[in-house]
Amino acid sequence: MTGLSDSFQRPINYLRVSITDRCNLRCFYCMPPQGIALMSHMDILTFDEIRRVAEAAAELGITKLRLSGGEPLVRLDFPDLVRMLAQVKGIDDLALTTNGVLLAEFAAELRGAGLGRVNVSLDSLRRDRFQQITGFDNLDKVLQGIERAKEVGLLPVKVNMVVMRGVNDDEIPDFARLTVEAGWHMRFIELMPFARATASLFVSEEEIRQRLRVLGELEPIVGDSGGPAKYYRLPGAGGTLGFISPVSDHFCFKCNRLRLTADGKLRPCLLSDFEMDLKGALRRGADREKLKRLIAEAVASKPECHKLGEGIVPQGRTMSQMGG
Ligand code: SAM
Ligand code: SF4
Repeated sequence: MTGLSDSFQRPINYLRVSITDRCNLRCFYCMPPQGIALMSHMDILTFDEIRRVAEAAAELGITKLRLSGGEPLVRLDFPDLVRMLAQVKGIDDLALTTNGVLLAEFAAELRGAGLGRVNVSLDSLRRDRFQQITGFDNLDKVLQGIERAKEVGLLPVKVNMVVMRGVNDDEIPDFARLTVEAGWHMRFIELMPFARATASLFVSEEEIRQRLRVLGELEPIVGDSGGPAKYYRLPGAGGTLGFISPVSDHFCFKCNRLRLTADGKLRPCLLSDFEMDLKGALRRGADREKLKRLIAEAVASKPECHKLGEGIVPQGRTMSQMGG
C-alpha cells in the first residue's frame, strides 16, 4: 500500500487542524459558559509551524486538510493561513468547519485564498433556541454565512446538526425539509458523551431515522463518501441528508484521520488521550524528516477503536480544544 497507513492497515490521508481554542459562541455541550482556560498566544502554533506540519504530513500521504477550532474565523489573519496551506503540494482538499457567525464576512476572501469547501455547524433554526444553545443571538448571521458561502462557491456547503433530546430533536424534520426546499446538504450527528455532555440528551441514529419517516422513504446514495457519514436523499430533494453516528454505529474501522491541536499536539484518535508533541519538536528545530518520523510514529500508535461503549471518554481536553 502506498501512502500512510496504521497498524490496522487503515489508510491515513486526512489531517484536521484546530487552529485556535477560542470561540465566539458557547455551545453548552462543547464549552462551559465562562469558556475554558485559554492557551496563551505563545502556546499556539504559528501559521508557519502549521504549514511545516502540513508539508511533512502531505509528503507522507495526507491529501485532505480541514481547519477547525474553537472557531477558526476568530483567529487573526485566518485567510493568510488558508493561502499558505492551499499552496502545500499534495493537499487536494482544503476545507473549513465553522459556526458560521463570521462566514458572510470572510467567505469571498477565503475562496480567493484557496479554500475549497465549508461545513457549518447549526443546531437550531429558531432564533430563541439558537441563543439558548450557543449563548448568542446570531442565527441570522449564520444563515447569511451559509448563503454567502454558496454564492462564492465554497461547495458543497454541508450543515451539521448535533441532535439533542429535549433541546432540538423536534427540529429534525425542519432541517431535513431544507434538503428539498433549499438544496441543503444536512448531516445529523450523534452527541458524543464528553465530560460535560449529559448522556440523557443522546438521540441515536435509529431514532433520528424514525423521526424522518413522516417525510418519505430515504433513498441511499451509493458509493463511498470517503468519510464517516452515510448519505441519503428525500424524494425530490436537490440536497442530501447524512448521518454521523460515532456512538451507535462507530466508524473506527474506516477512520482515516489524525488531529493536530492548537497547541501542536498530534492526536491519532479524537477519543483517546494519547498525543505526540510536535510543537516541542518544531521549537527545538526539528527538520522535515524528523517531523515525518514523529507523524509516522503517532500513526503507528493509532488505536483500533474508541471505548465509548465502555464509558471511557477522553479527559484531557474539551471538543473545542480538539476541533471536533
Ligand atoms: N467552532 C466550529 C464549529 O462549531 O463548527 C468548529 C469547532 S466545533 C468543536 C466542531 C464540531 O464539533 C461542531 O459541529 C460541534 O457541534 C461538534 N461538537 C462539539 N461537541 C460535540 C459533542 N459532544 N458531540 C458531537 N459533536 C460535538
Ligand atoms: Fe464554539 Fe464550535 Fe464549540 Fe460551539 S461547537 S462552542 S461554535 S467550538
